[in-house]
Amino acid sequence: MSVFSAPAYDDHELVTFCSDSHSGLRAIIAVHDSTLGPAVGGCRMFPYSGEEEALHDVLRLSRGMTYKSALAGLPFGGGKSVIIGDPHKQKSRELLLAMGDFIDAQNGRYIAAEDSGTAVADIRTMSERTRWVSGLEDNEHGGDPSPSTALGVYLAMRTAVRHRLGSADLSGISVAIQGLGHVGYHLARHLVADGATVYGADVNAANLERAVTDLGLTPVQPGEILQLQVDVVAPCAMGAVWNADSIDLLRAGIVCGAANNQLAGESDAVHMLDRGVLYCPDFLVNAGGIIDVHHQGLASPASVKRTHIARIETSLGKVLQRSDEQQRPTHVIAQELAEEYLNQASRCAAPLQAAS
Ligand code: NAD
Repeated sequence: MSVFSAPAYDDHELVTFCSDSHSGLRAIIAVHDSTLGPAVGGCRMFPYSGEEEALHDVLRLSRGMTYKSALAGLPFGGGKSVIIGDPHKQKSRELLLAMGDFIDAQNGRYIAAEDSGTAVADIRTMSERTRWVSGLEDNEHGGDPSPSTALGVYLAMRTAVRHRLGSADLSGISVAIQGLGHVGYHLARHLVADGATVYGADVNAANLERAVTDLGLTPVQPGEILQLQVDVVAPCAMGAVWNADSIDLLRAGIVCGAANNQLAGESDAVHMLDRGVLYCPDFLVNAGGIIDVHHQGLASPASVKRTHIARIETSLGKVLQRSDEQQRPTHVIAQELAEEYLNQASRCAAPLQAAS
């Protein structure tokens, strides 16, 4: 398997393959870019079909983290780690400790947080072997950053609705949410409170039931949710949901959700534009969680954190305006904006490095 010529390789600074025969750990740590600071990103555990799929995921996710932190104005670089395995069957204390050792060996270039397949408790176990972890401090939700992610997506959705429909008032707007887990549930809560009509689907019956009972949203079959005739579709389950086929079937005018790497490929951003869909770049709108983690470290008051999360609206507004002016995909414009910030930071740092 080659790394430098892998389709998702994008000048990543560091890719580390981790193996521990005692615990059965097989993992990959990727640092994409550390211009703005140490690479912070989740540690995902997933039953990948093989190492090629895991490598593809970690390369794409770590690159997304570079853009996410840059656009959110955070002093973090982009990194991610993936553990190959089923979190329900293969997660063990030994495996998590071994992962902690590998994270520690990066000496602070990569800082881990929870992600799909890992919980805050797992990161706490890793922290027995390394101090290079984050998101263990308390916030108003017991440390869970998901409500902040949901808040950012909700604010971004209002911006997108205002841009497309002329008013940010969500009452009377219809939204279809795919995935009612940590983020999807809280997103639905905001939308219901605003008087929106909310449809939801989840493959997990308990999560669906909770959202229907607590919030009164309308349940929909998982296979139908992305093609529903609504104003907004919000993917909050897994990545790569948008490809040429699913974009052709889309009937909503706006896509705004939390799932990372929603576009299966870069060409899908063009397809969204060609179909007249206002696509909100995931790495821009789902930054609320990492902003939360940053403020946990600073023990900021909730109001300071909220103001920071609300800047997602300004960034998205800028991206939507440029996209309209240039008639180019929002996804590409958002990446370019992040690159601008990174280049500015490199230029500012250069004289300091020369002087030291
Ligand atoms: P979660 O695991 O708590 O929830 C995901 C939900 O989606 C689950 O209830 C699951 O059953 C459901 N699901 C899975 N496949 C589905 C399908 N095909 N159809 C319908 N439902 C399906 O995850 P989460 O923390 O809510 O995160 C959701 C997405 O947002 C993920 O892609 C994650 O990477 C991304 N994200 C999360 C955060 C965060 O703070 N939690 C931050 C940034 C990005």
